[in-house]
Amino acid sequence: MRSVLIALAFLGMGLTSCSNATKDKSTTKKHYKYYCIMHPDLGSDKPGVCPKCGMQLVERDTDK
Ligand SMILES: [Zn+2]
Repeated sequence: MRSVLIALAFLGMGLTSCSNATKDKSTTKKHYKYYCIMHPDLGSDKPGVCPKCGMQLVERDTDK
């Protein structure tokens, strides 16, 4: 019985690390010129709206 639990735990860890890997891939820390204040990882180099929530993108302060 214990071995089954361990196997399930490993399976869960595997799935978690796998989903984390895909998550990291989609949310690459690219610094867009314009970004969504709700989703800083999302944005565009041109003015527009967030593809996720439709909020107006704000210009990143690049002076500093
Ligand atoms: Zn957004």
